[in-house]
Amino acid sequence: MKTAVVCGAGGFIGSHLVRRLKKEGYWVRGVDIKRPEFARTAVDEFLKLDLRLPKNCLKALARDGGTVDEVYQLAADMGGMGFIHSAECEIMHNNMLINVYMTNAAAALKMPRYFFSSSVCVYRDMMPGEPEMHEDQAIPANPDNEYGWEKLYSERMAMAYGRKYGIKVRIARFQNCYGPEGTWRGGREKAPAAICRKIAETEDGGTIDIWGDGSAIRSYTYVDDMIDGIYRLMQSEIDKPVNIGCPQYVTVKELVDTVAAVAKKKITVRSVPGPVGVHSRNFSNDRIYSTGWKSQFDLQKGISLNYPWILKQVKKAAREQK
Ligand code: NAD
Repeated sequence: MKTAVVCGAGGFIGSHLVRRLKKEGYWVRGVDIKRPEFARTAVDEFLKLDLRLPKNCLKALARDGGTVDEVYQLAADMGGMGFIHSAECEIMHNNMLINVYMTNAAAALKMPRYFFSSSVCVYRDMMPGEPEMHEDQAIPANPDNEYGWEKLYSERMAMAYGRKYGIKVRIARFQNCYGPEGTWRGGREKAPAAICRKIAETEDGGTIDIWGDGSAIRSYTYVDDMIDGIYRLMQSEIDKPVNIGCPQYVTVKELVDTVAAVAKKKITVRSVPGPVGVHSRNFSNDRIYSTGWKSQFDLQKGISLNYPWILKQVKKAAREQK
């Protein structure tokens, strides 16, 4: 039986990943500073640890006098654009500590395979209509935010440790990921969840506020597609960073229209100032395609699975407030 540790197993992508690994027959240890918020975790063992401390990183990875077959490092102080712009210092401080000590612990315990969850935030801003950017074009670097700089440094550190200590390092650069059990309120939610929540809370014919004019171009990846990409990448021999994202690019306004259509509501948008982030995205998926990965969820299909879950949370929260 293969064994794995998922760091960040109390979070959105981590808890979905645990379920997939269990389905694949793994023994799984989950590690996080908190337990999952929305569902019981499927792990065989859960360790509640703060991974900013070196001794906890060693504890997270050690097992039976040795280590496990695979570690998936998804733990991060993390959120949507609002959080990324308001918590720059916390993001750089906390995530750097986690990744420095995690790679160190992986080397000390002779970890055979190490996955690191990076982000397309490592790339510079793009303009609408630009050709696809591939992974090597992250250098020369000019990420739009500090979260991207931290990810880029942590990628390079993981690769350096991989070279020196013989660890098979696998790095995915995620596009914006959404789906059930993702953060949907509180300031850390990302655009798809925030828009689903706003539309769920608004009556038919109502108006919602969005940051900027709605023309920013993004790709949104349904969580099942992301998990499949992570799993395939980890089993592959690709030792360079790999973009994972749905090849469908839409404007924020089109995202709102998709959610409104799924919710069967007529919605007007009002532009308000806010941290919009980059203008546009367009990334090559050739590396992840080479593993046989293919996106199975276009935006309409993904939102039609995510919106009902957020609507349920909104109704539950309203009942609890009464
Ligand atoms: P999430 O916030 O749901 O999960 C991250 C988890 O890390 C949380 O459960 C949190 O408690 C845990 N964590 C934070 N600090 C910790 C600490 N000191 N010790 C132990 N655990 C700690 O986020 P997610 O969306 O599941 O993202 C997972 C990974 O993917 C992150 O590394 C994130 O940067 C990356 N990523 C996500 C997206 C996305 O759209 N969701 C996009 C690009 C990259």
